[in-house]
Amino acid sequence: MSTDGVVIVGGGLAAQRCAEALRRGGYEAPVRIVCGERHRPYDRPPLSKDLLFEDDVAVPAFRPEAWYEDKAVELILGVRARALDPRARRVALADGRELHYSELVIATGARARELPLFSGYANVSTLRAVEDSRLIRTLLAGRRRVVVIGAGFIGQEVAAAARAAGAAVVVVELETLPLVGLLGPELGQWFADLHRSHGVELLLEQHVREVHGTGTVEALTLGDGRRLACDHVLVAVGISPDLDWLASSGLPASGVPADALGRTALPGVYAAGDVAASFDPVLERHVLSGHWESASREGLQVANTILGREPGPPYPASFWSDQYGLRIQYLGHAQLADALAVDGDPRANDFIATYTRDGRLVAALIVGRPRAVGEIRERLIQTQERTPA
Ligand SMILES: Cc1cc2nc3c(=O)[nH]c(=O)nc-3n(C[C@H](O)[C@H](O)[C@H](O)COP(=O)(O)OP(=O)(O)OC[C@H]3O[C@@H](n4cnc5c(N)ncnc54)[C@H](O)[C@@H]3O)c2cc1C
Repeated sequence: MSTDGVVIVGGGLAAQRCAEALRRGGYEAPVRIVCGERHRPYDRPPLSKDLLFEDDVAVPAFRPEAWYEDKAVELILGVRARALDPRARRVALADGRELHYSELVIATGARARELPLFSGYANVSTLRAVEDSRLIRTLLAGRRRVVVIGAGFIGQEVAAAARAAGAAVVVVELETLPLVGLLGPELGQWFADLHRSHGVELLLEQHVREVHGTGTVEALTLGDGRRLACDHVLVAVGISPDLDWLASSGLPASGVPADALGRTALPGVYAAGDVAASFDPVLERHVLSGHWESASREGLQVANTILGREPGPPYPASFWSDQYGLRIQYLGHAQLADALAVDGDPRANDFIATYTRDGRLVAALIVGRPRAVGEIRERLIQTQERTPA
């Protein structure tokens, strides 16, 4: 084994899980994590949940500093990787350093997408890093008028937090209903009702036509001519894999394709987390996931591959969201369904929506019943195993 060891570029969840599993599995060569952020690897879901509510705005780090010393995991923080030379097995950093590797793990995550219409305005933000979360929390403390662009999960969670803080919230969404492409119209309607019942003004099939103000946004004009006054705009229109630094590596710019073991097309190079387009055995294609559980599992899987271990069983895609004190969980692929059934009472925010295809479970949305997740996950795994590839 070469002594260059593993270089992990990106210092989020996938990187952390990979480093932990390498050391747990007895990997003895150097492990280095390079991260553009100045913080130790930290968890992002609290940024749009607990951190927006709590007084303690500490960075939700996965591990204390001493852990990295104990485990001999070197953190190179506050510096981005600039380029990859896969033939020389070398990563160039923005500060001029070059790191040689035996194995490279690409774990640079994703960036929040921005909208050119809003560039240069001071009171417009996205939410990806802890600093973004702190800014939004400060703004909410002033009970301001907040406009959220995009009714995906991040937009919805911030809208819920802003309402709880007493802010006036307008959500502007291009689609006919929130999450309609993912969950279909019935559940899209449930999300719309949930937010409206908490006082959010949800404007559907709308886009921002014009921005008013110099330096700061004072108002927006929507596609239908309506004018919205605002103190802050949160742009929550999805994410893009963070892979500019791979431009000359030969890897595609739309997400790094990785097989079930986390291997990319380049020898000794693996990818995990939001930057990876991992092979989904159910959809039978590479997909960008953008969710916590897959980033965690993929980080672990890459470590197991490097350690020469057998892969674990494929797990169904899943994510969760917390809004208005409700736990919302989703598993599987609703887009494969030909039927939907609801058990429970959506009006009481207590139900399980099951999506089936030919009578077979393909996805579920679970609201207010967190303990049901284990059983649904098992059912999905069993269905996946019985389905011929
Ligand atoms: C506000 C928020 C709330 C979320 N809530 C949920 C939720 O409720 N449920 C759920 O399932 N998922 C949620 N997610 C998604 C989940 O957090 C992500 O899927 C997960 O963080 C992905 O981990 P990662 O390691 O792939 O990437 P990241 O956590 O994004 O880490 C990548 C790191 O790499 C760094 N980096 C990027 N480029 C370079 C470079 N060139 N050189 C060096 N470093 C670089 C980045 O700065 C970053 O620190 C949420 C995400 C956000 C932002």
